[in-house]
This record gives sequence, structure tokens and C-alpha cells, in this order.
Amino acid sequence: MISTLRDSTAHVFVDAIETPVIDELDAHHLLRVLRVKPSDLVTVSDGKGNWCSCTVGANAVLEVTSETFVQAPPISKLTVAFSLVKGDRPEWTVQKLTEIGIDEIILLAATSRSVVRWDKDRAGKNISRLRRVAREAAMQSRRTWLPNVCDVTELFAIPEIYIADPNGAPLDATHRTIAIGPEGGFTEQESGVGAGLVSLGDTVLRAETAAISAAVLMSDYRRKRN
Ligand code: SAH
Repeated sequence: MISTLRDSTAHVFVDAIETPVIDELDAHHLLRVLRVKPSDLVTVSDGKGNWCSCTVGANAVLEVTSETFVQAPPISKLTVAFSLVKGDRPEWTVQKLTEIGIDEIILLAATSRSVVRWDKDRAGKNISRLRRVAREAAMQSRRTWLPNVCDVTELFAIPEIYIADPNGAPLDATHRTIAIGPEGGFTEQESGVGAGLVSLGDTVLRAETAAISAAVLMSDYRRKRN
């Protein structure tokens, strides 16, 4: 990975890389939690591959200290779609998928055996929170491309999606979009709408472990193609 990004005291996202302005929540995090000092180098990214180095002055004003660098987008997009599960596990899953380098995270609309269902109001609020989780995880991971956390989507509407299932074929480099079922699994009919079944190992994993395993395996194949 790029050493300037790795070595920076903190990494933050801004709207415009040429005139970077830090948002209030990030300013609080940098100054109060990470205790960034004026002499520290931070890196700033627009989440679309552009990044530069800065220092943080009084009142969290950013001063650019380098040219703008451009990191190419990943050679192929990796997507994990997962069914909603109880408690804070969706947040945990989004955080880990972001750290691992997944590009697109999709919350699946309820399927037959789903226990957790979000109404429209709740979905809106929860997705906003999950986008914030992804943003923070991407800062911690020094990503220059922010993952896209999509709105709740029906399984059948996702192109080229493979269904994670212990009876599937072992995951290989051709699998780039994977759906993880709810605790009760997908029905046979639901599994049939995908491009095929893909196995993540010979044990039955909890949904969130399956999501992380799919992410690790897919990103490892992508790394080796680079
Ligand atoms: N009782 C369910 C288990 C569901 S686990 C069943 O037997 O199908 C939740 C989800 O995790 C599953 O729907 C599946 O998508 C995924 N999963 C769990 N273990 C897996 C494995 N070994 N390979 C692929 N997917 C797996």
C-alpha cells in the first residue's frame, strides 16, 4: 500500500480535494479523539481516488502540503449483498467489509426466512448510519475509494449475483458479487434466481462470518490478478 497513506496520523474524506474542508464530526474525531497536532501529517481524500497530504491548523482548518495524487479504481468491482440480521451485526459487517476493501455493499430486501424487516422510515435512517460506519471504516483503512452502501435492494434485481451456500462450487476468481442469506438461509426458489451457488467452506457459518469470508476470498483473488 502507499506509505504516505499508511503513515499519516489520520485520513479524512472531504467533498472537494482542491479546497478541502473537514466536516464537524470528523473535526471532533481528529482533534479530540486522535488528538492530531498542528505538526502532524494527515491525508485527505474525496473518496473517488484523489488524495493529498495536509496539516490541520486551528479550528480544524486544513492546509494542503502536497500535490493531488490519483489512485486508479480497483481492477474489478467486488460486491457483497447481505440479509439483515438482528442487533448491531449489520454495522459490524459493513465496517469489516469496508476494511477488507469491498466496493459495493448491498442490504438485501427481506426474503422468506428473514426475521429482520425494515420499513421505509427505518431503512432510510439505518442506511444513513451504515454509510457513516463505512466512511469511518474507510478512513481507518486509508481507502481512497469509498465503498458504495446501496439502498435496500431485492435479490433478483442484482445482476450476476452468486448465492452463498455450503453446497455450492468453491469460490474462485469469477465470483465478484455474492449474496449472503438470513439465519434461516434462502429458500430453493430464492437461490435459483442467482447465477449459481458458491461455497465458502465446509462448515455452516453465521451470516456475518459468511459475509466476511466471501469478502476476504474475493479480495484475495483480485489481489492476485493485479
Ligand atoms: N440454516 C441455514 C444457515 C444459514 S447461515 C442453512 O443451512 O442454509 C446464513 C447464510 O450464510 C446462508 O444463507 C449462506 O448464504 C451463508 N453461509 C453460511 N455458511 C456458508 C458456507 N459454508 N458456504 C457458503 N455460504 C454460507
